[in-house]
Amino acid sequence: MNIAIDGPAGAGKSTVAKRVAGELGMIYVDTGALYRAIALYLLNHAIDGDDEQAVEAALKGIRIEMKHDAEGQHILLNGDDVTGNIRTEAVGNMASKTSAYGAVRAKLLSLQQDIAKENDVVMDGRDIGTTVLPGAEVKIFLTASVEVRAKRRYDELTAKGETCDFDRIAADIAARDEQDRTRALSPLKQAEDAYLLDSSGFTIDEVVAEIIARTKAA
Ligand code: C5P
Repeated sequence: MNIAIDGPAGAGKSTVAKRVAGELGMIYVDTGALYRAIALYLLNHAIDGDDEQAVEAALKGIRIEMKHDAEGQHILLNGDDVTGNIRTEAVGNMASKTSAYGAVRAKLLSLQQDIAKENDVVMDGRDIGTTVLPGAEVKIFLTASVEVRAKRRYDELTAKGETCDFDRIAADIAARDEQDRTRALSPLKQAEDAYLLDSSGFTIDEVVAEIIARTKAA
């Protein structure tokens, strides 16, 4: 059984997917973390994210692994656990830019498909229902208004002690949506057989309950 949850940044995918996975005894796979790990490497090596050739050349030096334990998902970048280093806005923006490149997407595809083949997963991302797991038994397209998403991201970053500006976050989210929706390869898009869930007016509990009900009915 695989559940694909796609949607724009800040829609609540990870919170919801983690809860659904916990309640159904499945593994939660956060695919954005893979793109973020590549982005972290590029930032650490001062590689220009706008230079597709340079990014492609850098991929040879990047080895990404995913591990899941009681604490959740760990991402290893060339053997180092970078799980805690990839949650910054700078990394997210670099990930959004470089995830448009075919070589970046190709590098991460089999990693995602293999884990879903071997385990029951709740996988979240942008193209899980359309490209990575087109055969997933349950597909959800989770969204929310830009305002609601910006407020959630603001609260999340503030809680971690990061100083941030609400308008800047809202503008970043809108720009990232635009980038993710309009790229040529695997754009952010609702799969034809995905269920559209707008979480703006719902609590996390309600969204989780809806997905679990759909999974039990699948
Ligand atoms: O979900 P998160 O914000 O961590 O993802 C970072 C970036 O990685 C996204 O903006 C998106 O461009 C990219 N991504 C993707 N495909 C996925 C997951 C994430 O292109 N399946």
